[in-house]
Amino acid sequence: MDNTPEQSCIFCSIAAGDAQSEIVYSDDQMVAIKDVNPQAPVHVLLIPREHNLESLNDASKLDLSLLGHLLYIAAKIANRMEIAESGYRVVINTGEAAGQSVAHLHVHLLGGRDLTWPPG
Ligand code: AMP
Repeated sequence: MDNTPEQSCIFCSIAAGDAQSEIVYSDDQMVAIKDVNPQAPVHVLLIPREHNLESLNDASKLDLSLLGHLLYIAAKIANRMEIAESGYRVVINTGEAAGQSVAHLHVHLLGGRDLTWPPG
């Protein structure tokens, strides 16, 4: 029975290997997968393995290393997927008004096309 946030969280299931995804990078702190509903030719989600941060609002100083790691790996993946030169965007939707739909912190990496500003 799903009685903890982790047990009902799709990103926890993906990180645990219990739900299918297209993994592009993985280490002891995080996994990176292709977004199932891509908004750009490259659309990768960087997902911490732990569920303790439901959004950026939950971050404390204890999370500085993890947050830095997510950004660092986003740049590495951008380079590997050959969008570093053309340009890319790293986004963390936080809360309802920003359109956050999964309550497990994640970073979007988007690129491979011209991205308009300001975002919608
Ligand atoms: P957000 O709206 O910022 O919370 O982003 C959640 C993202 O997760 C959306 O872009 C979804 O398309 C994506 N997503 C939801 N479920 C899955 C899944 N099972 N595999 C890959 N991406 C997913």
